[in-house]
Amino acid sequence: MDGREHYTFILLSALLPLFGVAAAVVLLWNQLVGPADLVIFAIMYVIAGLGVSTGYHRLLAHRSFRTTRPLRIFFTAAGAMAGQGPPVIWVAHHRRHHRVADKPGDPHSPYHDEEPGLKGALKGLWHAHMGWLFDRGLSSDPMRYCPDILRDKDMRFISKHFVWFVTAGVVLPGVLGFAFTGTLFGAFTGALWGGLVRFFFANHITYAVNSIGHYFGRRRFATPDESRNVGWLALFSFGEAWHNNHHAFPRSASHGMRWYEIDISAMVIGGLEKLGLATNVIRIDRERQEQKAVAWEKLGGGRHARATPDKPLAHRPRAAAVGIVDVE
Ligand SMILES: [Zn+2]
Ligand SMILES: [Zn+2]
Repeated sequence: MDGREHYTFILLSALLPLFGVAAAVVLLWNQLVGPADLVIFAIMYVIAGLGVSTGYHRLLAHRSFRTTRPLRIFFTAAGAMAGQGPPVIWVAHHRRHHRVADKPGDPHSPYHDEEPGLKGALKGLWHAHMGWLFDRGLSSDPMRYCPDILRDKDMRFISKHFVWFVTAGVVLPGVLGFAFTGTLFGAFTGALWGGLVRFFFANHITYAVNSIGHYFGRRRFATPDESRNVGWLALFSFGEAWHNNHHAFPRSASHGMRWYEIDISAMVIGGLEKLGLATNVIRIDRERQEQKAVAWEKLGGGRHARATPDKPLAHRPRAAAVGIVDVE
C-alpha cells in the first residue's frame, strides 16, 4: 500500500462511517434496529478496540508484553479491522509521536498550529483529532521507526492485505446479523452497526485520545509533552485515555496506574499472563513512578502544563506520593 492508496483509504474511512451513522440514525428513528444489532455492535467494538489498544498499541508499538504467534496475529488482525491503517504505518506514526510528542515533527499534536486564541485551539484540536490523517505530505518511515515490525512476516502480510481485514470488519458483523436473525435485512443492519457505525465510534474514541488526551485532563507526571489523563474516556478506550501515565511510562503494559484507573487492556494482558499466554509483561512500581516524577519536575514539564490547576505528582505531599497514604 503506497501513500496514494492510503490517502484514498483515509478519505473512505472518514466518510463511509459517517454515512453509515446517518443511515443508522434513520433506521433507529423508524425502529428498524433490533437487539441483535446492538449486540453485534458491542462484539465488534470490543474486538476492534482491543485490537488497537492491546494489539497495535501495547503489543506492537511499545512491546509491553510478549505473546504467542497465533495471539499476536489475532490481536493485529483485530486491530486492522478497526480501519485505522496497516500495522506498519500505525506503529511508525505512533512511535514518532512518542519521540517528539507536542514538538515539531509530531504527526498529531494539538499544538501544531500556534495561532493564538480560540481559533488556534480549535484548529490544533482538529489537526490532532483527524486533520493530520488528511496531510498528504505526512509519512513516518517504517524502516526508521519500526524495522522490527517490518521484519515480521505476519505483520508484513497483514499490512499488505490490510484492506481485506477492514472489509472483514464489515462482512463479519453482517454474517453475525444473518446468524442471529436469519434474514438478509438482519445481515444488512448487522454490517451497518457492527461495521460502519462501530468504525465511527471506535475510531473517534482513538482520535480523542490524541486530541483531548493532549489538551484537557489531569497531569500526574510532568512529562515533557502535554499528555493528560482523561478519566471519562478510559472505559471506552480500553484504558488508553490514561495518556499522561502512558507518556510517562510508554512501555508499561498498564496505562491505569491506580486501582481505580480502569484499564481493560491491562486486565486482558494480566489475564493472558495468568493463562501463560503473555510473558515479559512490563510493570512500573510506585517507587519508580515517584522517582521519575521528581526528575521530570526538575526539568520543567510541558510547555502548557503550568496553566493547569492540577498538581503533578512531584508537587504533592511526600507521604502521599510514595504511596503510604493515597490521597487521590
Ligand atoms: Zn500522546
Ligand atoms: Zn503509545
